[in-house]
Amino acid sequence: MSASNPNLVVAKFGGTSVADHQAMRRSAAIVANNPNTKLVLISACSGVTNQLVELAKGINDPALRLQRIQTLTQTHQAILDQLNEPDVISQAVYQLLDHIATLAEQSAIAPSAALTDELVANGELLSTHLFSQILREQGIDAVRFDIRQVMRTDSRYGKAVPNPTAIRQLSQQHLAPLLTNQVVISQGFIGSDEDNHTTTLGRGGSDYSAALMAEAINATTLEIWTDVPGMYTTDPRIAANAQPIKEISFSEASEMANFGAKILHPSTLVPAIRQQIPVFVGSSKAPELGGTWIRQHVQDAPLFRAVALRCNQTMVTLTSLNMFHAYGFLAEVFRILAEHKISIDLITTSEVSVSLTLDQTDTAGGAPTLPPSAIEALSELCRVEIEQELCLVALIGNQMSQTQGSVSQVFNTLEQHPLRMVCYGASPHNLCFLVDQSRAKNVVKQLHQQLFE
Ligand code: ADP
Ligand code: ASP
Ligand code: MG
Repeated sequence: MSASNPNLVVAKFGGTSVADHQAMRRSAAIVANNPNTKLVLISACSGVTNQLVELAKGINDPALRLQRIQTLTQTHQAILDQLNEPDVISQAVYQLLDHIATLAEQSAIAPSAALTDELVANGELLSTHLFSQILREQGIDAVRFDIRQVMRTDSRYGKAVPNPTAIRQLSQQHLAPLLTNQVVISQGFIGSDEDNHTTTLGRGGSDYSAALMAEAINATTLEIWTDVPGMYTTDPRIAANAQPIKEISFSEASEMANFGAKILHPSTLVPAIRQQIPVFVGSSKAPELGGTWIRQHVQDAPLFRAVALRCNQTMVTLTSLNMFHAYGFLAEVFRILAEHKISIDLITTSEVSVSLTLDQTDTAGGAPTLPPSAIEALSELCRVEIEQELCLVALIGNQMSQTQGSVSQVFNTLEQHPLRMVCYGASPHNLCFLVDQSRAKNVVKQLHQQLFE
């Protein structure tokens, strides 16, 4: 499939959009209503990935393990039961459920990152069987495709890095021929490495998968269908008065995704920006409400656009009096971190200390930690303090660092809250700070009320 198709849409449906038979039917209607939709990527049914992650950690009690597998079986059986012709796919579904039981037992004996990816991938492998059949029962010529044939990644289990060149080449070879006559249904979130081992792109990674595939097949639009009608000025679950955004630039939306707006995986817009593919975000529950368009150029560039929240932050503070007027200290810190493959997110420095937060995107979830060997190496250089139960609040906007008074508005609003690390000025699009987890939602609500309501 090449640029010759003037309207090629890739659509992605998240977990709540394929949660059960009814949700799948609503999502199938969205696919059926647009003949330009040729590739559909979906997540696991809502809640399934969480359950698989628990199994992958290793549940030793066989009775408890069985109970968890029965819950998973019920979710998928309930959808099978409502199909007109369940027999077309029931064998394949039961085989995957059996495979889950085997892998869960192996995980109880010796859990590993590789096994985790192989196990959690089954959520998407299951949901795609069911969704393809629902589409066929609605008269759509749908074919299920195993994305691992084309979604080539490295072998970093739990946060695998995709290889866009290989993905494009494999997609042109194995996937493009199918797109001419059929609607292809495939898995978000999962991929495979050079040795055909299953990998995952990190929690929420289906958005990123869909963008990578849109890039690989030269799609003209990427649609992200979720449970809210678009991107809002903040998470509508936190602030009831959050406002939908009709149109937002790639750079603002990227900042929102990076700073934790769960609606988009942080890397989603990277392929879209590379290929200049406009992205639509809408609700599969209420497609008639419209949604948000994310594009390169937009009409408005408001000073304040949105507030995002990202929890499970780990802050590391490194203090050394030797740093005072010395050189080479930071270089040494970064060398140690790089040696231990630790990715840094934010950083602030003073004369004698440096504070940084650790990156966290992998499938296992939770707050990231420094491995003991890294703490040991850093401790030879300076004092190391680690703090958790922190959340990052980010205010996203335009020209904030060039606009008088923008910072005081923010800090006046938050007077009564201790703000930890503050990062400001490096990007014209954001101002962010750490707060205690217990205060985070209130901080977001207050900031939103003051600046957007
Ligand atoms: P999906 O399963 O479809 O991928 P997610 O749960 O990952 O859905 O993302 C959708 C959720 O993102 C919404 O239900 C909402 O609570 C949350 N969210 C966070 N920030 C925002 C925002 N700025 N605008 C809209 N939704 C947001
Ligand atoms: N199913 C995966 C998760 O829950 C990927 C996704 O839904 O985007 O994280
Ligand atoms: Mg998501």
